[in-house]
Amino acid sequence: MKIFDEIESEVQSYARAFPRVFHKAQGEYLYDAEGNQFLDFLAGAGTLNYGHNNPVFKEQLLEYINNDGITHGLDLHTKAKGAFLEAFNEKILKPRGMDYLVQFTGPTGTNAVEAAMKIARNVTGQQNIVTFTNGFHGVSLGALAATGNAHHRDAAGAALTGVHRMPYDGYLGDGIDTTAYLDKVLSDSSSGINSPAAVMVETVQGEGGINVASFEWLRNLQAVCKKHGLLLIIDDIQAGCGRTGNYFSFEEAGIEPDIITLSKSLGGYGLPFAVVLMKPALDQWKPGEHNGTFRGNNFAFVTAKAAIDHYWSDDAFSESVKNKGQYVSQRLAAIVERYGEGNFTARGRGMFQGINCVNGEIAGAITQRAFKSGLIIETSGADDQVVKFLCPLTISDENLKKGIDIVEQAIKEVCAKETSIPEEVDYFDESQSVSA
Ligand SMILES: *Cc1c(COP(=O)(O)O)cnc(C)c1O
Repeated sequence: MKIFDEIESEVQSYARAFPRVFHKAQGEYLYDAEGNQFLDFLAGAGTLNYGHNNPVFKEQLLEYINNDGITHGLDLHTKAKGAFLEAFNEKILKPRGMDYLVQFTGPTGTNAVEAAMKIARNVTGQQNIVTFTNGFHGVSLGALAATGNAHHRDAAGAALTGVHRMPYDGYLGDGIDTTAYLDKVLSDSSSGINSPAAVMVETVQGEGGINVASFEWLRNLQAVCKKHGLLLIIDDIQAGCGRTGNYFSFEEAGIEPDIITLSKSLGGYGLPFAVVLMKPALDQWKPGEHNGTFRGNNFAFVTAKAAIDHYWSDDAFSESVKNKGQYVSQRLAAIVERYGEGNFTARGRGMFQGINCVNGEIAGAITQRAFKSGLIIETSGADDQVVKFLCPLTISDENLKKGIDIVEQAIKEVCAKETSIPEEVDYFDESQSVSA
């Protein structure tokens, strides 16, 4: 369609990789205007954990709209908001023994991150927040400072301040616990890093290339925070809401963050919604200090409650995600073994997985080939080198297999082709010597 070239900004990104006009969607399927069907392994970058137009949520949303339910409510108390809070408290927080207050922020992830950083700074009276290599926390100025990616940072047009960057788990190679470095610089009054307010971290880095922090590393990180009096913020915007198997991505690690951010799949239906969870003692806000016109997206309250009621009232959904995650792990490990030429690696946890193809051009060639076979799948990482598997958690076993089969075939074709081109042979050789 000409109109997109004519007047839509160059800032478009996903639209470039998938140049179709999309029109309908259901479950794990997307359809373009010509009626072509695509399997969706992008799923709104982790916003559609429960699939497109989930019929259970749709019915409740339609009923709410039909009854003239409140659409926009600023931060007014509404029945829909109360019902969401009840469900969240009874089915998510209480069963996990979690004592947190809920702050409704503007409806984007980055706004929840801004609020979380403000809380940490204002409560501790310290400015700096420790963030990690390859971290992604959003693109508004405060959150962008915490984000590692140079492409995003370069667009700031202003100084990005108030953070200290530390190496994420695995950044310095296997067997090096990077929390020891954090502990060391916080213990040394001449390290140049004095008393930050908090540490902010993703348990699995989504945009950063599916880098997984081990449970042990997360526990060590919490211990360092406790030792030095830093607050621990878990940015669970992409890894949370069931993506790794449990509702929160840090549950299995047994840690207890001071502050948690949630967004993306929180609304359930792809509707904008974000919250900050904080330990009660941290709630030192004065009325309206952090506000936002769209803190009261009541449609999202309705679908978020529906998601909790339908999928999180017992362990069945969580178990099914873990089972599917195991299947994905096995398949990706086998694919890497078979076609990866010793360079590719599989990584991830639960239904949050990827194949690191080391080279962004190769990863891009794989996703483009998969697209030709009817699969929408994206890359992430500093050089877009990781093929990122992010399909709806509700996907059928059959379609999960089908999507992975398509990627496998694409890898087979791309790698067979690449090895016949001299420069690409060089690339493989180079990488082998790096990893040797
Ligand atoms: C997507 C994401 C954000 C930013 O959310 P937006 O809604 O795009 O502002 C922040 N943190 C993480 C971990 C994310 O994946």
